[in-house]
Amino acid sequence: MKLVNFGSLNYDYVYSVDHMVLPGETLSSNSMETFCGGKGLNQSIALAKAGVSVYHAGMVGEDGESLIDMCKENQIDYRYISKVQGKSGHTIIQLDKQGQNSIILFPGTNGLNTLEHIEEVLDYFQEGDMILLQNEINLLDQIIEKAYEKKMKIVLNPSPFNEKVKACDLSKVSMFLMNEIEGYQITGEKEPEDILNVMESKYPSAEVVLTLGKDGVMYSGNGMRYFRESFKVKAVDTTAAGDTFTGYFLASVIEGKSIEEALKIGSFAASIAVTRKGASSSIPAKDEVENRLM
Ligand code: ATP
Repeated sequence: MKLVNFGSLNYDYVYSVDHMVLPGETLSSNSMETFCGGKGLNQSIALAKAGVSVYHAGMVGEDGESLIDMCKENQIDYRYISKVQGKSGHTIIQLDKQGQNSIILFPGTNGLNTLEHIEEVLDYFQEGDMILLQNEINLLDQIIEKAYEKKMKIVLNPSPFNEKVKACDLSKVSMFLMNEIEGYQITGEKEPEDILNVMESKYPSAEVVLTLGKDGVMYSGNGMRYFRESFKVKAVDTTAAGDTFTGYFLASVIEGKSIEEALKIGSFAASIAVTRKGASSSIPAKDEVENRLM
């Protein structure tokens, strides 16, 4: 079975500021750092660190070389990342002294996927292969349609949730990976049990993984439900907790581990990530997860 993650690739420009810039104000930042990220790329990095062979598909612009280098460094297969005219996706992040952030997202070439590119990518995959999707690229509905036609297993992290996700035929999704906010946005319910109840009745054949931050994670599928508490740690930065969980959970499922075991490994890897600052740089390597979990 092969796994392709069709997702975003972004540069994150992080500016440390004393306060968020006000309307009309020009503010000097105290420092500035550039990272490679995007939900798509972060999840591919988490999968690769968890030991899975992952193909990343998507678009970068003429300035996208460092994003491709990041894939190379992490042994991610980048043959289906096309370089096109224009600027790669990026975010401009202000980080204030309280640790709060405000973000401008420029989709850039993440919004330039074409039907031809989708066909070319999916041509390489077969029935039973897995496709992972988030909502930071265009033509999400078309990718779901085409992957379903090919009888691929469709795993969707409906983040960020918006009209574009609502326009997709979600009955074609095999597995939802989402947090409580997305769960609320899809079902209109706030309580985790109620979110799962609605998901089960609307999408009876799908598996649902509902992450609850420091409160743990719930699973529903194949007539079973599980709850897994989170590992108790001192969190310093929860960025990429969800992406780390996704990578390690899916890797465990692909390896044939039980759902309970996969929930445990995903939660443990995510609990390490939250003790470190940064996004993809905070995702632990497989050795570390295995050694510390023993
Ligand atoms: P993000 O968008 O920040 O990547 P998310 O909202 O998609 O995260 P969360 O539900 O916050 O995902 O977290 C995913 C998993 O990470 C949780 O189910 C839990 O196992 C683990 N986790 C998150 N926060 C903590 C924490 N403070 N302590 C321990 N584990 C945590």
